[in-house]
Amino acid sequence: MRCFLAVALPEEIKEILRGLQEELRAAGAGVRWVRPEGFHLTLKFFGEIPEKKLPSLVQAAEQTARDFEPFELTLSEIGFFPEKGTPRVVWVGLSGELETLKELHRRLEKAFKKTGFPPEKRPFHPHLTLGRVKEPQSTEALRRRAAELSVPGKSFRVEGLTFYRSKLRPDGALYTALATVELVCERE
Ligand code: ATP
Ligand code: MG
Repeated sequence: MRCFLAVALPEEIKEILRGLQEELRAAGAGVRWVRPEGFHLTLKFFGEIPEKKLPSLVQAAEQTARDFEPFELTLSEIGFFPEKGTPRVVWVGLSGELETLKELHRRLEKAFKKTGFPPEKRPFHPHLTLGRVKEPQSTEALRRRAAELSVPGKSFRVEGLTFYRSKLRPDGALYTALATVELVCERE
């Protein structure tokens, strides 16, 4: 199964992201927008794994999560990958306790490496994907529209990590939650 680990988002945050999608949709670019129920913050993409490997991944995540307390992130600006030229991904960035998030990511990579999953080579750019560009038309209009919009500076608490199965469909991936691990710092 195709599998990844992510931070699930509260309804209130998904609602804001959906609103931003609506505003951006008006630019008429060839974007496949993420299903609103599917918004998430990816921490690790595993690719295809045999189902029997999941328990060891969950265990690795649990051990790591034990060293972290819940923390807070805030929606920031709309951004694009790549930053210049024809965009491929439209996303919302994050501010707040980013150092904690990066440390959590680093520790997870370390734990999954021990479980046999090599760390991501690309640097970690935490982001909430709104959509993926499929046709290069009107991407200038999309960039202009994004620059005009202001993202509500809403915050949310990261209290857990969720393993998802991803089923690729022509009209966009379908995600199903497989297991959730809570951030529960047991240190004083
Ligand atoms: P689609 O690929 O059909 O556009 P998707 O990207 O939403 O849909 P997946 O490809 O299964 O679905 O990806 C699941 C999550 O993992 C997404 O957040 C995606 O950005 C991320 N992801 C996918 N491939 C990689 C990769 N090679 N490295 C890092 N993250 C990835
Ligand atoms: Mg993908």
